[in-house]
Amino acid sequence: MTRYIFVTGGVVSSLGKGIAAASIGRMLKSRGLSVSVLKLDPYLNVDPGTMSPYQHGEVFVTIDGSETDLDLGHYERFIDVELTSLSNVTAGQIYTEIIGKERSGIYLGGTIQIIPHVTDAIKGHIKALAEQSGADVILVEVGGTVGDIEGQPFIEAIRQMRGDVGRENTFYIHVTLLPFLGSTRELKTKPTQHSVQALRSMGIQPDAIIGRADHEVGHEVKDKIARFCDVKPENVFGLPTLDSVYKVPLYLEEQGVGVTICTALGLPETEPNLAEWRHIAEIEDETEDPLRIAVVGKYVELHDSYLSVAEALRHAGFHHGRKVNIDWVSSEQIEEQGPERLLAAAVGILVPGGFGPRGVEGMIAAARYARKNSIPYLGLCLGMQVMVIEYARNELGLENASSLELDPDTKDPVINLMEGQAGLVATGGTMRLGQYPCRLREGTRARAAYGKELVQERHRHRYEYNNDYRIRLEEAGLVASGTAPDDSLVEIAEVYGHPFMLGSQFHPEFASRPDKAHPLFREFIRVACGVLREGEQYELPAESPVSSSDSINGSGNGVDAREIGSVASIEER
Ligand code: GLN
Repeated sequence: MTRYIFVTGGVVSSLGKGIAAASIGRMLKSRGLSVSVLKLDPYLNVDPGTMSPYQHGEVFVTIDGSETDLDLGHYERFIDVELTSLSNVTAGQIYTEIIGKERSGIYLGGTIQIIPHVTDAIKGHIKALAEQSGADVILVEVGGTVGDIEGQPFIEAIRQMRGDVGRENTFYIHVTLLPFLGSTRELKTKPTQHSVQALRSMGIQPDAIIGRADHEVGHEVKDKIARFCDVKPENVFGLPTLDSVYKVPLYLEEQGVGVTICTALGLPETEPNLAEWRHIAEIEDETEDPLRIAVVGKYVELHDSYLSVAEALRHAGFHHGRKVNIDWVSSEQIEEQGPERLLAAAVGILVPGGFGPRGVEGMIAAARYARKNSIPYLGLCLGMQVMVIEYARNELGLENASSLELDPDTKDPVINLMEGQAGLVATGGTMRLGQYPCRLREGTRARAAYGKELVQERHRHRYEYNNDYRIRLEEAGLVASGTAPDDSLVEIAEVYGHPFMLGSQFHPEFASRPDKAHPLFREFIRVACGVLREGEQYELPAESPVSSSDSINGSGNGVDAREIGSVASIEER
């Protein structure tokens, strides 16, 4: 029998409801239960894929290629699951589905209404996830705040779920804000009372309340909430702002949230195994001397736009027992001031994904700076493309080399539009999306990092490395170390002879976990820590890059890249 936990939010948005839900997922998983998650987003966009980073933050890509809310990233990282398109449903999707059916006559002339058609469609998605995942527990988080007009059908749908699957199989948690009043030095409960009233007026009596606050939540406050909101005092929990999100599962567990949920849902009350999490949470507290990594991007003032990147850097830090501090560097500022001063303090430089020409020359300058100064560099998607452009310009002498995205008239499009992308009019869901296999070439850094030949990684892009330049670039020392298994696409490029300069066309950040750092991030941070293995050199590729590129178009002259590569590496020093 599937159990359902519904999480709603009160008073304000950005409360960390997603982190609270993800933490509950972790607490259940560490009791040996299988958990899946569904984020219901009441906005009318079909998905966040076409929303501006200013509006929405990062777009999280699932293995099956859907562009989803960034909360799915929290769920994947905390619960260590791989979610799919089944785990994010928006009002836009629900209405598209219903209107499509109406247009094809499926409703046989009936009047289409919020209840039952919209609510049934929402419940259909919840039940589909339960069925397909087979999970013991389905966590359902409703986006937005109770009282939002567009959220009402979603609140109604989760209300009906209790009747559909039984009281004993459902648990409602309301996460709400307890503001602190400086003048009286107290946490105020009135907004929570109002928010719970709003929820009750829609037929949902919460089983538990989690009060988010900037301070510890004392007994008197909890008792007051219990009295006014008709919730058992032992089911009211406080969650102060902690210095690390990875402490939230531990904090909630200590408060008894896990036991409360398991008792209410008749789940076995096994001891949770959170030892690994305790270890992770302590690392950042215990380490002094944080590593400074520069993240060079266009939206650096909006850290949520690079959420998974920032988390993946932290995870790699955990692996090496170090705390990573990110210097957020604006690529446009690099264009104005040059890279030297802005990047001087960084022991590693990361250029994440991005779209459009703004600020890209600054990223190219950052890549050049990293290469010339032997500073570890990790390029993700656009960050890989700028690394290729920089190499072509400065090592092949193709001064105007660019990407068709940045300069549609460039004579040397070292990054060109992918086949199938030309002429696309619709923008939503039309990129190369989701997980694709990548074969790693023996003897490369990429191969050494992963320790295996074939990997699967997630993509989200329209442009790609242009194979017409592959042989020339390889001869000049930019090795294609990861390709599609049929060799048709270059997925990873790395600079021969550099301590660590690697770019991936995919987004490794989505697959990183706090207790399982992604291999590319792990290696990048290792080299940034200065932990070079004794005499660490670039190992020679086992096969000649030229002979391995028979299947691609190119105009190579047959020079062995191993020789050229070693010359280039000497030059760099
Ligand atoms: N804008 C580039 C492309 O579409 C890179 C995309 C990305 O960084 N996610 O190929």
